[in-house]
Amino acid sequence: MRKLAILGSTGSIGTQALDVAARHSDRFAVTALVAHSSSEKLFEQVRQFHPQIAALSVEPKEIPADIRESCQWMFGENVLLDVVRACDADDVLVSVVGVVGLAAVMEALACGKRVLLANKEPLVAGGELVTEAARKAGHPLLPVDSEHSAIFQCLQGAQGNTPTRLILTASGGPFRTWTREQMQNATRAQALKHPNWSMGAKITIDSASMFNKALEIIEAHWLFDMPPEKIQVVVHPQSIVHSAVEFADGAVLAQLGVPDMRVPIAYAMTYPRRIPTGSKPLDLFSIGTLTFEPGDPVRFPALRLAGECLNAGGAACTILNGANEMAVAAFLRDEIPFGAISRIVEGTLEACGAMPADTLEDIFHADLEARRRAKEIAEKLK
Ligand code: MG
Repeated sequence: MRKLAILGSTGSIGTQALDVAARHSDRFAVTALVAHSSSEKLFEQVRQFHPQIAALSVEPKEIPADIRESCQWMFGENVLLDVVRACDADDVLVSVVGVVGLAAVMEALACGKRVLLANKEPLVAGGELVTEAARKAGHPLLPVDSEHSAIFQCLQGAQGNTPTRLILTASGGPFRTWTREQMQNATRAQALKHPNWSMGAKITIDSASMFNKALEIIEAHWLFDMPPEKIQVVVHPQSIVHSAVEFADGAVLAQLGVPDMRVPIAYAMTYPRRIPTGSKPLDLFSIGTLTFEPGDPVRFPALRLAGECLNAGGAACTILNGANEMAVAAFLRDEIPFGAISRIVEGTLEACGAMPADTLEDIFHADLEARRRAKEIAEKLK
C-alpha cells in the first residue's frame, strides 16, 4: 500500500490520478488532497477517498457537516508547504500549475518523500536546485509529463548506455498549420481547442504557442542531463509516439500509446511496475499513418528561446517561465493578442538580462522581476 498526497487534486492531472487510485484501492491510500479554490470538487473527493488531510489555498465559506470532522482541514496561501510537512505520504504528486510548486517539490524531497512531477515549472525555473535535491534525497524524480515519462520509460532499457539524442514529440497544437499572420490575432477559443489532449487552460495555451514544448525541452535537459542541441523536437500530430531515445548504435527506443494521461500518471505512481489504467488499447490499424515534421522556430519562437535560455544559464529559464505565465494570463483575460505572448517573453528576457539562480531566493526574485517586466510590456501592448 503506497500513501499518496496530491497537490492540485481537482485539476486535470489530479482527477485522473484519483481515477487510477480508485481503480486500485488495494494499492493506494490517499492521505492528503490539496486544491486551490475548487472547494465543491474537493469536498466530493474527500467523501470518496477519506484523506487524513484536506486543504485549500482559498478558505471556503463553510465545510459541509458530513466531512467537517472526517479529516484535518488546512487553509491559506502556504498550504502546499504545510501539507507536505504534515502528511505522512510516501509519494507526493505535484500537479499544481505554475512556479508555486517549486518550494513544495524542494520540501517534499527534503522530507524524504518521492516526488511524482506533473508540474513543469519547478524544473524549468529551478532545474539545478531541484535535480540536486533529488540526488541528495536518493529518489529519482518521477516524471508525469507524457513526453518525459516516455523518455524515462525508454531509458529503463538503457542498461547504463548514455543516449545520444532525445526525440521529444509535439502534437503541434491547434495552430500547427496556421501562418504567422493568422496566429497573431487568434482568439482564446481557437487557442483553447487542442486536437488530442484534454488539459487545463494554461497548458493548452502553451501548446498552441509551443511554449509548452519550450518548457519541456528545459525539463528534459534537467531530468536526463542532455544538452539542448541533443534534444530534437518532432511535430507528430497523431500524439501516438510520446517521445523516443536514440543510442550510439543507431537504435531508437520509443514509447507509444493512445493519448491518455492516466498511463504516465500510473507509471509514476507504481514505478517500476505497470497496472491497468482504463486506457483504451492502441489500435494501429485504425490509426493507419503516423506522420512527423520539423518544429518551426520562426512561427513558434518558443522553440528557439528554450535552447537560448538553457545556453545563457543563470535565471534565464526562470525568466522565460515567469514572463510566459504573465503573458498567458493576460491573453486569457483577452487583454493581448495571441502573437504578443512570445513578444512579451522575448522583451522580458532582454529587459531582465543576466540574473543568478543559485538559491531559491534568487529564483523567486528572478521570477518576480520577470513578472513585473512582463506586466509592463503587456500594458503597452493592450
Ligand atoms: Mg507534455
